Amino acid sequence: MKKDYSQIISRVYADILTRENCGKVPDYIPELACIGENKFGVSFTDLSGFSYGAGDCSEKFSVQSISKVFALSFVYEKLGEELWQRVDVEPSGTAFNSLVQLEADHGIPRNPFINAGALVICDILLEICKDPKQEMLAFICAVAGEDSVFFNEKVAASEMQNSYRNAAMTNYMKSFGNIKSQPDAVIDLYCHLCSIELSCRQLSKSFLYLANGGRIPGSETHVISISKAKRINAILLTCGFYDESGEFSFLVGLPGKSGVGGGIIALYPEHYCIAVWSPKLNEKGNSYRGMKFLEEFTTQTAESIF
Ligand code: GLU
Repeated sequence: MKKDYSQIISRVYADILTRENCGKVPDYIPELACIGENKFGVSFTDLSGFSYGAGDCSEKFSVQSISKVFALSFVYEKLGEELWQRVDVEPSGTAFNSLVQLEADHGIPRNPFINAGALVICDILLEICKDPKQEMLAFICAVAGEDSVFFNEKVAASEMQNSYRNAAMTNYMKSFGNIKSQPDAVIDLYCHLCSIELSCRQLSKSFLYLANGGRIPGSETHVISISKAKRINAILLTCGFYDESGEFSFLVGLPGKSGVGGGIIALYPEHYCIAVWSPKLNEKGNSYRGMKFLEEFTTQTAESIF
C-alpha cells in the first residue's frame, strides 16, 4: 500500500509544534535576525509531482547555504572532474566558516559546502560565466519550474557588511592561487547567492533533479549527469550539515543541506524531496525544529537511504 505522506507530515508537524522551540536566530547577518522565530513550514514533493505542505510552506525565506548546492551543480556540470583540483570532497569536522584547515591544506577547501569551498565555486562562476548572477538565477528558475527567483538585496548587503571572515578566507586562498578573480567580486557573488529567497514549496520542487538522477522530472532536461547527481548526493550526505553531518545522517538517514536562514532540504533518491523551514538554529547552526521534524519524519516513514 502507498504510504500516506500527507498524514505523516501533518502528524509530525503537529507534534513538533507542541514541543519547545529551542535555539537562536543568527544575528551575525543582521537582516536575518528580524525574521519571526516561530515560523515553521514543511513541503514534500515526489517525483510524480504530488506535493503536500504544512504551516508556513509558501512563505519565502533566505536559503543561505542551500544555494551552494545549485552553484555546485552548475559548475560541476560545466567543468567536470577538473573541479576537484580546486576543492576537495571530505567532511571538514569544523564550523562552516572556519579558517583553520586552509593553511595545512594549501588553500584547497575541504568541500564545496563550507564557506571556503563555496567561495572557490563562486570564483569559478566568475571565470566561466558572462553574467554569473543572472545565469545562477536562470538555473534556479529552471530547476524550480519558476518564472522568476530573486536575490534579497538587503540581506546580501547586510552580509557584505559583515563578511570579514569570508574576506579573510578569500584573500588567504588567493595567496595560494586558488582564487583568480578579485576577492570583492567573489564575496559579492557569494553573498548574493546566499540571499536568494525560496519557499519550502519551491525548494522541495527545485531539488527533484538530484532525487531523479540529474533530470528534472517530467522533462528531458538533464541538469547534471547520473554520475554527477550521485556524487553531489554523496557530498550532501557527508558534508551537508556543517559539523553535524554525521548526526544528521545518523538520525535522519537522507542526503540534505541546511542553511543559516533556518531551511533544510533532504531528499530520498528516486522518491521525493522534503523541505523544512524554522529559523531558530541549534548550536551547530542547523534549524532546531527542522532537525527534529526530519528525524521524526523518517522514523515514521521507516524510509532512508540505508
Ligand atoms: N551567508 C552565510 C555565511 O556565509 C551562509 C552560511 C550558511 O548558511 O551556512 O555566513
